[in-house]
Amino acid sequence: MSKLKILVVEDEMPVRNLIRTTLETHEYTYLSAEDGKSALMLASSVNPDLILLDLGLPDMDGIEIIRRIRTWSNMPIIVLTARSEVTDKILALDCGADDYLTKPFDVEELLARIRVTQRRLTVMQARLPEERVFMNGALRIDFAEGCAYVDDVPLKLTPSEYKLLCILGRNCGKVLTYRFISKEIWGNEWENNIASLRVFVTTLRKKIEKKGESQSYIQTHVGVGYRMVNHAEGPAGSVDG
Ligand code: CA
Repeated sequence: MSKLKILVVEDEMPVRNLIRTTLETHEYTYLSAEDGKSALMLASSVNPDLILLDLGLPDMDGIEIIRRIRTWSNMPIIVLTARSEVTDKILALDCGADDYLTKPFDVEELLARIRVTQRRLTVMQARLPEERVFMNGALRIDFAEGCAYVDDVPLKLTPSEYKLLCILGRNCGKVLTYRFISKEIWGNEWENNIASLRVFVTTLRKKIEKKGESQSYIQTHVGVGYRMVNHAEGPAGSVDG
């Protein structure tokens, strides 16, 4: 198997060096850019398997880079952002980023996120667009039948709970923002949908999580949204704000 090519877009040298060491010791091919212009050039010429993108770059907003790349490619993008910038994370995810990491992050967390993204990509590539069944651990969603099961026991879900479960399942491994989910379920982004969404997540969790089981299917990203954890790969690492 050829090595995964990862393009790191980061203007701070110490952060770049940390990532470089981590990636190279774990058999990834490291490529780097220090500004937006060279990042866009490299992204199109090298076609990396994944991009780690710092949002604060000297010449260009990282969000703009995501927007431009998304006009021609679905390559996975993990955003690197500072702790206080919740709105940036949301904007980045809504513009098409796949995940985010809050600085300072530890290398284990970085590697976990890369594996999750990698796994999601493999699953997506293997999955046919018309696929009718989604499986994740004990959970099974039969899209064609319009029904979900845990350990083959049918779940009694309301239409909104089922819709929510399908959205999370179809985007398994990806952090989805409140805005995105709200738009998918209700067709709009009303702020007060967030409160309803929290209720749906709580009731849905009660129905799909097995008693006495520690692993969770729906991960909360405070102030950002939710993610369905891919149990084929194990939990997606710790959750930050
Ligand atoms: Ca920066």
